[in-house]
Amino acid sequence: MNAHTLIGQTPNEAGTWSIAIHGGAGGNVADWGEQKKETRQRGMDVALNTGRKMLADGASALDVVEVVISILEDDAAFNAGRGAVVNHLGKAELDASIMNGTDLRCGAVAGVTTVKNPVSLARHVMEKTSHILLVSDGAESFARDCKVDQVRPEYFLGFHKRGHHRLDKLPHGLDSKEQHFGTVGCVARDQRGHLAAGTSTGGTRKKLAGRVGDSPLIGAGTYADNRYAAISGTGIGEEYIRHAAAYDVIAQMRYGSKSLEDAVSEMIDHRLPKQSGGMIAVGKDGSIVMRHNTPSMTCGAASSDGRFEIRFDVPHSDNR
Ligand code: ASP
Repeated sequence: MNAHTLIGQTPNEAGTWSIAIHGGAGGNVADWGEQKKETRQRGMDVALNTGRKMLADGASALDVVEVVISILEDDAAFNAGRGAVVNHLGKAELDASIMNGTDLRCGAVAGVTTVKNPVSLARHVMEKTSHILLVSDGAESFARDCKVDQVRPEYFLGFHKRGHHRLDKLPHGLDSKEQHFGTVGCVARDQRGHLAAGTSTGGTRKKLAGRVGDSPLIGAGTYADNRYAAISGTGIGEEYIRHAAAYDVIAQMRYGSKSLEDAVSEMIDHRLPKQSGGMIAVGKDGSIVMRHNTPSMTCGAASSDGRFEIRFDVPHSDNR
């Protein structure tokens, strides 16, 4: 199958849809103050509600993933877009990807420093080029061509105008001790049975300049295929790359006939090292799986059967 062959949508009960989002798997909710929990809860609530309404109104999974991730990128409580952590030089370098499960088209950007919503630039890469991943200067120049919103470095919170040093105390709930924390992702299944996935991040705190994690790598941090599932991961990117984590879940379903829940569980509970991260997934039947091997994962799920929940951790028995 080539990348533009349409993958048949699965028979869908009229009007059913589902969506899951994450806001990172680092840190431990037990150590968070009320303000931090509330800020993150509010941000997740706005994003999930927007996605829920769009899907109920018949929007495509791809549009929903882009809009929902853009909302989280604009919210400084998350390590993506505005709230991105900085590298060892004190500079925000952003990574993002998006994938359409209908035809396996995908786009990604890495190491961008001026783009307000990297997920939207990733979608432009997908729709306007024959490429999948654009990085640093080339991606910035493509951003100018596409006329996406670009911002000055000060836009990324904590970036001093003078001195270019990150504030010691980060506003809005980001914690300088948490190395990998607050990346955002969204997976959705729309009323036509189409799946899409996306992930956006500032990467890991104090990373080397030029370091690229899993979030913009299709197959590592993000994957979507209408026949199986849509997946977004969060955690120590190097581990997700090493294990081809997102595609491996699909491969377990494809070649090993595993259920989505078993495949995600195999990856999170047995293959990735403990404390390395989590994953959200929506299956072709609309089932939602959210799992992590860290103490916490900020995540949320909603579906046409009336489910709407935001949580900071997910006991294994709660997947359905
Ligand atoms: N996976 C991201 C990265 O390594 C970080 C995270 O998910 O928190 O860039």
